[in-house]
Amino acid sequence: MSKFLTLVLLFCVVSVSAQKLTRKEKKILKTIELNNTEAIQFLKDVVNINSGTMNHQGVKAVGDLFGKAFENIGFNSTWYDMSSVNRSGHLFAETQGEKGKKLLLIGHLDTVFEADSPFQEFTMVNDSIAHAPGGNDMKGGNVIMLFALKALYDNGLLDDAQIIAAFTGDEEATGKPLTISRNDLIEAAKRSDVALGFETSTGFNYATVARRGSSDWKVEVTGKRAHSSGIFGEKTGAGAIFEMSRILNGFYNDVRGEEYLTFNPGIILGGTQMNYEEALSKGNTFGKSNVVAQTAIVYGGLRFISEAQKENARAKMREIVNNNLPQTSAKVTFIDSYPAMGPTEGNNNLLNIVNQVSLDLSQGEVEAYDPGKRGAADVSFVAQYVDCLDGLGTMGNGAHTPQETVNLNTIEELTKRTAILIYRLINSKE
Ligand SMILES: [Zn+2]
Repeated sequence: MSKFLTLVLLFCVVSVSAQKLTRKEKKILKTIELNNTEAIQFLKDVVNINSGTMNHQGVKAVGDLFGKAFENIGFNSTWYDMSSVNRSGHLFAETQGEKGKKLLLIGHLDTVFEADSPFQEFTMVNDSIAHAPGGNDMKGGNVIMLFALKALYDNGLLDDAQIIAAFTGDEEATGKPLTISRNDLIEAAKRSDVALGFETSTGFNYATVARRGSSDWKVEVTGKRAHSSGIFGEKTGAGAIFEMSRILNGFYNDVRGEEYLTFNPGIILGGTQMNYEEALSKGNTFGKSNVVAQTAIVYGGLRFISEAQKENARAKMREIVNNNLPQTSAKVTFIDSYPAMGPTEGNNNLLNIVNQVSLDLSQGEVEAYDPGKRGAADVSFVAQYVDCLDGLGTMGNGAHTPQETVNLNTIEELTKRTAILIYRLINSKE
């Protein structure tokens, strides 16, 4: 190919991709650049207010700051008190309208660092990395959401759109029952078409179209207490510990194996007598080598990609539990926690839209992140009502540990991506 032709082709490629952003979209990007210093200062301010889930006043104080910021860009903000489930509350900010897709944007105000944690302050590690409690999970994501919307507002582009920005105050330790603590979020989803989650990003090239759900389970076994010399006999049977071993071995051999299905026994106790304190996840047990064990208990977790997979796994577990060894009985109980967010067609359509936005911004292709690598999140509660995409928040490391950092250099680019995504969705004719 001649040098001239190469040059012409190169010029065409560049000018085509540059044309993909409209004049209005370019104005949005400019505004985000202008507001970026303010965005980072706002992040610093909200990080420096402790909002551990059980610090109810701190969670409310962070909610108040976001609430005011949303009022300033034309949203109505409401605080939903959650003291009935021993949590602080949720902030919802809403703007009303009719055009395009109706959006639900999801963040959370709380962090895992309680008021007595030594990790309280936003400090710079170097020019771009901040050491910040909850800076990445997920006050950074909240700030991206706010400043993306602010850029649209500043350019008069939010008129007649319906957007609900929802910030729960108990994502890290949900208030129970969930029918109360997640009711407002679910009601907001029922009035929306699309939910976008701003939990931590897994890099420019990934978004989350599916998250596994989680549940807890408990197996309780009873055996016949007797002198060990009689074990295996007709009257004494196998004892509680052999029965529990059979059950766990059955789970391992006959339930394990499906993609995205995992289950983990986290704690086991067995013997003649025992004591387990569920709230503290600890207990003690007493037994003797010459006494057949009377009791055994296991607590575990279960993760799944769909309700069908969850129910199927539970059915297999029940069957194994019911097939008792002589003179023993066993019972399994399941406790729902997070539903699964499956990789639906609607979620993949959203991925295609964010991929196009990213390409138009020269930020590279965006693919679906492996759901096996992500934990559950609030977006999972609304997945059955709306199309969902998550992982639109900040980048950083060490979430939930005293080493948590947030990369400030990526905030501007991620805010641009979110703003253009929201702009295209609220102007979508489909
Ligand atoms: Zn989070």
